[in-house]
Amino acid sequence: MDFDLKKEHLAIQKEARFFSEREVIPRIKEEEFKRDLVSKMGEMGFFGCAFPEKFGGTDYGFLAHSAVCEEISRADSGLRSLFNLQGLTVPYTIMEWGTDEAREKYVKKLVLAEKLGCTCFSEPNAGSDLASIETTIEGKNDHYIINGNKTWISNGTVADIAIVYATFDSSKKHKGLCAAVVETDQPGWKPKETPKLGDKASPIAEIFMDDVQVPKENLLGGWGEGFKVAMTALDRGRISVGSGAIGLAQACLDASVQYANQRVQFGKLISEYQLVKGTIAEMVSLTEASRLLVRQGAWLNDQDRPFTREIAIAKYFAGEAVTRVAGMAMEVYGGMGYSLDAPVERYYRDAKIYQVGEGTANIMRLLIANDALNIKKANRPRLKVPSDFRDLE
Ligand SMILES: Cc1cc2nc3c(=O)[nH]c(=O)nc-3n(C[C@H](O)[C@H](O)[C@H](O)COP(=O)(O)OP(=O)(O)OC[C@H]3O[C@@H](n4cnc5c(N)ncnc54)[C@H](O)[C@@H]3O)c2cc1C
Repeated sequence: MDFDLKKEHLAIQKEARFFSEREVIPRIKEEEFKRDLVSKMGEMGFFGCAFPEKFGGTDYGFLAHSAVCEEISRADSGLRSLFNLQGLTVPYTIMEWGTDEAREKYVKKLVLAEKLGCTCFSEPNAGSDLASIETTIEGKNDHYIINGNKTWISNGTVADIAIVYATFDSSKKHKGLCAAVVETDQPGWKPKETPKLGDKASPIAEIFMDDVQVPKENLLGGWGEGFKVAMTALDRGRISVGSGAIGLAQACLDASVQYANQRVQFGKLISEYQLVKGTIAEMVSLTEASRLLVRQGAWLNDQDRPFTREIAIAKYFAGEAVTRVAGMAMEVYGGMGYSLDAPVERYYRDAKIYQVGEGTANIMRLLIANDALNIKKANRPRLKVPSDFRDLE
């Protein structure tokens, strides 16, 4: 295994760091969605690491994607979801599973952030259990019609393009699912913003779909293959969620080191007390271990090898780690941790999502344990995608 970042990966990681210092940190207090920042990130190629040049990318791979995502999340964890939506789960899923027409229409525009995307799995009665999705899809003349409600959709209020998972027969459970690309600029698509605890740069919405129309060429995979499409999308999404967790854990650590080295109590810097040192050591270890696990998952994907098990372990570990590390940062800051003037209260609010998004901690543990117990092996041969998109002219 070799997770060393190549010269070009280090260069784009450095650009992401400069961008964060120049553009993200100065506006961090705004705590809202900033379309101009997203456009700039698209123009700078931050979402394109995993894509061939034909689709607006650099072909640097998933390891590079992880490093860039980590860097941006270190400045604002709320921007991390864009790496998933603009840099993986929406355009990558269309690239892998879409028709030629769908690829041409959407992938490049998403990667360059000219258009914004969202992924719609979750519903009021279907969260961890995707096979119980109730949103319906049916064929009508030359298009499909979708009806139903989605919840907790990141980018939901701003997305131009959505991948919607829906069923043509709910009694068939996961075998009845389809995935389709929906253009949101139509009267039947109605988003309603959901207020939330953290990740304020990432707007979340409930979506109400009433006779939403989808051209037939926008189906991803075959009729009834939506569950397979979802599983590949979630595996990839776990790379950016894990990477975001590392960035945030690193931010907690950076802030804690700085504070411990300036705060004096009982006549000494608090960094001189062994109990505080112990906390810092734990933060370093959790952050580094998360980084190695996530990079292993990204690297395996770059090698075209199965990585479902490894990225589930990584996402689970990094999600638990960042939640603990954010709590430790609050401890190091003492009362100041509670202040809106210090950054760690935001880190604390932002950390919790990493135990939920792209599969909860319990769902990751089920996958990991079922694999270990030989109940259900997680890593199967890589699914054959409909065509080799890398050879497309
Ligand atoms: C900020 C944010 C952004 C999100 N963005 C998106 C998005 O863009 N698109 C999207 O589709 N969804 C999104 N989600 C939804 C997210 O994917 C779901 O919240 C998540 O999958 C869990 O589903 P749920 O909330 O319905 O919880 P539930 O599935 O109801 O789970 C509740 C609890 O029960 C546990 N549980 C459930 N089943 C089992 C089981 N079999 N064994 C053991 N424990 C179990 C869970 O681990 C959890 O602790 C987002 C959520 C948040 C908070």
